[in-house]
Amino acid sequence: MISEECYELGSKSSIIREIFSFGLKRKAEVGADKVYDFSLGNPSIPAPESVKKAILELMEQPPEEVHAYSPAPGDAGVRRTIAESLNRRFDESFTAENIFMTCGAAASLNICIKALGNPGDEFITFAPFFPEYRCWVEGIGAVLKVVPPHLPDFQIDLEALERTITPETKGVIVNSPNNPSGVVYTEEVLKALVKLLQEKSREYGAPIYLITDEPYREIVYGEVKVPYLTRYYDNTLVCYSYSKSLSLPGERIGYIVIPSRLAEYSRVSPAIAGAARVLGFVCAPSLFQQVAARCVEDTGDIEAYRSNRDLLLEGLTRLGYCCVPPQGAFYLFVKALEEDAYAFCERAKKYDLFLVPSDDFGCPGYVRIAYCVAEKTIVNAMPAFEKLMEEYR
Ligand code: PLP
Repeated sequence: MISEECYELGSKSSIIREIFSFGLKRKAEVGADKVYDFSLGNPSIPAPESVKKAILELMEQPPEEVHAYSPAPGDAGVRRTIAESLNRRFDESFTAENIFMTCGAAASLNICIKALGNPGDEFITFAPFFPEYRCWVEGIGAVLKVVPPHLPDFQIDLEALERTITPETKGVIVNSPNNPSGVVYTEEVLKALVKLLQEKSREYGAPIYLITDEPYREIVYGEVKVPYLTRYYDNTLVCYSYSKSLSLPGERIGYIVIPSRLAEYSRVSPAIAGAARVLGFVCAPSLFQQVAARCVEDTGDIEAYRSNRDLLLEGLTRLGYCCVPPQGAFYLFVKALEEDAYAFCERAKKYDLFLVPSDDFGCPGYVRIAYCVAEKTIVNAMPAFEKLMEEYR
């Protein structure tokens, strides 16, 4: 008898992957320029030149230095460089000891959840949320509880959160800028969240950890600020990734910040190492640890995403679609034109428009449009969006 749970997870692909595969099939049938695929969150802008330069320079180093196993938490110099960058940018006081290099945000979150949680514990997140949280939390025998969004702004509903926290609550997972809504949680809301977590931790006599999922931290538009939560709440673990900021999703590189101020730092820090060990990560990719350190404050051309956002938001609003105003990431969250978002996405397919229904994000009735695409895809898709709208008039 094999693992039923793993069999279930592996035998159905995510709805996003399913739609993407169908889009590929259509591209082969009718030509790529006639298909408007907004399904995947794969960065469309190239990695910055500094990444290529760093790789080429590193290729001149002795191979045993760039391709060897690093220590499990990562190369000490890389961790120091990242800590110093965070200290400069967020007025923090981290050292290399506070940084644990990982294979991207997925690994960072998985490690944090495993390090903190026991079977039966509860983790809370806010809809709409990244669907993989469910399998990472349930994978350790814990329970994922989902708090519906505060409408119409898609901020955190603090009253609903208060009702959801129990003595079993081990952690709260926050993702801002958010996939799929594009919303950035305000400082005011986050301060109120922190106050509630402090009160509840005191009431139940155990820390409730705040786990921040931040692959989109740098992808924000205009004057929007993304508060750095270790500055507000001692029991915060930051899960970061270079997948989106440096357009390196396939290279699997990121880190966890484990602040010394954590209530149980002396136990959590080894537990993070233990979780990474159990999960078999060994170490983060050595070459890309060095690349990340050399490009620590660089990003791809975020302006291209802003321009795509404006084009799409303006175009869809003009056609009468109702969109959640996005301040970051590269997703637009749009109200489906019928209650059943799956049915709406099926109709969209008629026009070779590939959108993702929001049900798996825990927030039915919407679609996610990933605008990390070429500008011409957005421009050329507008007549298709118009025809889709006409069907409902
Ligand atoms: N968290 C969110 C909200 C994401 O959107 C993604 C990827 O799209 C991840 C985590 C996983 O990112 P990574 O590629 O760094 O593992």
